[in-house]
Amino acid sequence: MAHSEIAEAVQAAMEMGEIKAYYQPKYDAITSKLSGAEALCRWIRKDGTCVMPGSFLPQLEESSAICALDWYILEETCKYLKKLKEEGIHRVPISVNFSRWHVFEKEFDLHLSKLADQYGVPHKYIEAEITETAYVNAPAEMIEWINRVRAAGFSVAIDDFGSGLSSLAFITNVKADVLKIDKSLLDKNCEDEKERIVLESIFDISHRLKMTTVAEGVETKEQLGFLRTCDCRMIQGYLFAKPMAEADFLEICKKGQSDEDAADILLTQASASASSLLLEAVFMRYPLVIFANLSRNSFYMMAYESFSTTSCPSAGVFSELIEHGTATMHPEDMQLFHDTFQIDHLLDLYEKGEKFVKVVTRQKGDDGIYRRVETTDYFVQNPSSPDVLVVTFCQTLD
Ligand code: C2E
Ligand code: CA
Ligand code: CA
Repeated sequence: MAHSEIAEAVQAAMEMGEIKAYYQPKYDAITSKLSGAEALCRWIRKDGTCVMPGSFLPQLEESSAICALDWYILEETCKYLKKLKEEGIHRVPISVNFSRWHVFEKEFDLHLSKLADQYGVPHKYIEAEITETAYVNAPAEMIEWINRVRAAGFSVAIDDFGSGLSSLAFITNVKADVLKIDKSLLDKNCEDEKERIVLESIFDISHRLKMTTVAEGVETKEQLGFLRTCDCRMIQGYLFAKPMAEADFLEICKKGQSDEDAADILLTQASASASSLLLEAVFMRYPLVIFANLSRNSFYMMAYESFSTTSCPSAGVFSELIEHGTATMHPEDMQLFHDTFQIDHLLDLYEKGEKFVKVVTRQKGDDGIYRRVETTDYFVQNPSSPDVLVVTFCQTLD
């Protein structure tokens, strides 16, 4: 069939109510609690046979005819969320697929808001999924589209990440809420060293960019086990549940939990998640951590939101950092701070076998108030370099 004929047939199927939204649950990777779902279209013919999207969507997607179907599925989803509310059943966000054509739809965000509002659905329950293919042809339009959808209070997920076209420039430039890791990245059952390295890195980047991660197409316990060690937040796949008709999903919503056991984070985590927990605890005590290379006069700084003195670059020349720090100290403490952290002085202490050096000085915060700050430099070494390094922990004592 030509794609115009398919478009007409699908249009007719929508009018006859033969197009249905199926829902595939997403679960929290650690607790196994129901935490979302994805709406996927199915064409259920009169005789009960189910036509999968793979056999008509590709043709439909050749033109903007697909847009009508997406709006239809969104409306079904809104109706469903309204029903949950009326029946007093706990709701979770549901994502809806939007083809790349929507990026060119004027007032997409307004249309989305209008439909959600019509059914009284708070915007936080709707997530728009879009693949990065839209970015390749129209990067500026896609960024603008995402920004507008998010500004209207909906969340945006990047679908099929890692399925082929992914580029790092894309996730650097696009500010989305969720990254959906494509199932092709789990092809080797997470048992292959290279596959694991790629996955660990993608999860690390996503979390550092503050995106929620969803792994798609999870079918085995091995995949689940490894994804948990990567701190993957949500799991969608046959291991937990297949896409299902509304009535079946309603039962799942009532139950709220998968049959898979909740994991004990301490037994499942690998070094990646252990380090992030450790860092969180360290930051509670030391909101500013600085790594300096004394041999090369350089530094790299990690500051937590709560540290009171900011306005400093996060990497640069160490001696300039000390000058900058000195200027923020109480006049009576400037000399002490300045002399303690001169590179030659620190190197002297290191040569003498000191393990660390510690001072307490009064430092002016961004709010103009002086607080006592304890600065401790620990001498450390990286096995692959002769350079003398220090790790500095700063904490406010008042
Ligand atoms: P998608 O958005 O990547 O959706 C996930 C697909 O993976 C679904 O296929 C789902 O059934 C399948 N899947 C989920 N878990 C597993 C698993 O553990 N193993 C395997 N092998 N597959 C799994 P489905 O429902 O056939 O949909 C195929 C594609 O059609 C979707 O891929 C999406 O791109 C598109 N699609 C479906 N509904 C819509 C829609 O309403 N609008 C648009 N624009 N596209 C849609
Ligand atoms: Ca999708
Ligand atoms: Ca996908």
